[in-house]
Order: sequence, then C-alpha cells, then structure tokens
Amino acid sequence: MDACACAFRRCLRDQAGGLTRSEPRPPPMPKHDTRQFANQHERRKIAVAPEILRTINSLKARLLSQRLLGTLEQGPFAGYDYGNLSIRSSRQPLQLLITGRQTASKQPLTADDFALVHGYRAEDFVVLSRGRTEPSSETPLHWRAFQADARVGAVAHAHVVDYHPLAAAFPAFLKESGLRVAQLRSKSRAGAEEIGRLVAAGGLGIILMPNHDGGFGVFSTGADIVAAVASVAAFYQDLERYGEAHGIPTG
Ligand SMILES: [Zn+2]
Repeated sequence: MDACACAFRRCLRDQAGGLTRSEPRPPPMPKHDTRQFANQHERRKIAVAPEILRTINSLKARLLSQRLLGTLEQGPFAGYDYGNLSIRSSRQPLQLLITGRQTASKQPLTADDFALVHGYRAEDFVVLSRGRTEPSSETPLHWRAFQADARVGAVAHAHVVDYHPLAAAFPAFLKESGLRVAQLRSKSRAGAEEIGRLVAAGGLGIILMPNHDGGFGVFSTGADIVAAVASVAAFYQDLERYGEAHGIPTG
C-alpha cells in the first residue's frame, strides 16, 4: 500500500480505517512568542496534584489522537502548538492552572508544564503568573471565562486546523449547529472580553471560534476538566456525523 501523502505526522486515516501511515515530518521550532499580553511571570516551581496530572494526561491522549490539540504542521505558524487546558485552582481569589506555552504536543505533562495564573488586568492587558513555564498565549480567554461564571471549573480549548479532515464540514455545520459563536481576533484583549460576555450570558458549554489560527477554535467550559473535554468530544462526534450525513468528504 502506498504511503499517505498528507502532512500529518500520524495520519488520521490510519486511525479511521487503518489505511495508511505517513512518515514523521518534524515541524520547525517556533522562534517567536505569539503572546500579545504582557506577562509578569515569576519563574519558580509550582505544585500540581498528581491526580490532576493523571486526569489531564489521560484526557489529552484522546485530544491529541483526534488532532484537537497538537502542533501546526503547515502554514506560516508551522511548529507552533495549538490548544490549551486550564482548571480553576482557587475561587477567592481567582487562580487557575493553565498549560504552558508550547506544551500541547507534550505528553505526559508534569507540574513544570503548567503556569499558575493569579491575576489578569484587562485595562493594560497584563497576565500575572508563576511556574517553571510561562502561560499559554490564550490565557486571557480562559481567565475571562472563569470570571464570567462561578460554575466554570475548567476550560478545554481545542483547534480544528484547516487541513484536518473534518475542517471541510465546519462552515455548513456552523450555520446549523445552534452553538454560540465568537467572532474574535486571536489572542486579543477584545477576544477575551467577548468570551467573557458569551459565558456570562450562556453559561457552560461550547463556543465556536471561526477563522481562528489557521482553522477554527472550540472553546469548552465545564464544571471540571472531564466535563469540559467531554463537550469537546461530543462536538467532534457531531461534526463528524454532520459531514457524513451531508456527503462532505472528511478524509
Ligand atoms: Zn486558540
């Protein structure tokens, strides 16, 4: 059987039907910090409970296999990781644990791959954090979601990149799904405000983000990380079924 010519390091068609397997194609290492906020970061060790690490690593395995988290393999940002996860670690004052920069493809994560975010100032777009790694470029979106609704215990933010087999089904699905939609500029302060507004108005669940970093984004809030990731998985399945039902090629 011929090798698959697609750009995936591990071809999705492999998992779907055992058809083919592409050769490893390591992306170039990213050179730039894509974060737009100013980060007052204290680089020192933080603790993350072993059961939290176990849970997140287990959930991540599935998200990685579906390419909902990973490393961009095409386009101007090839080599950059996409997707991030966070959990509320303190209610009053608000603090959250979020996956660090360039950790989406890393598995398993350790405490050193998380940042503890203990403050966010929208007025001058500053994130306050500590940890061995710096927080994700999309930290303000997470922070605003936690602030907007006390029931939010975790956020799972996934991407479906435009070369993902399911990407073709997304535009039509978007019109019919009835899910909330955030039109926002990636990593912007205004984008974080928009997420906060949508969560405050609509509570927990999925928010779709069209035109997001070379594909589209899925922003899921849940009572805990298991629930947040379960909503992403349900969305993925819905999109897959939608593509199949409407004859949209998905692979
Ligand atoms: Zn994103």
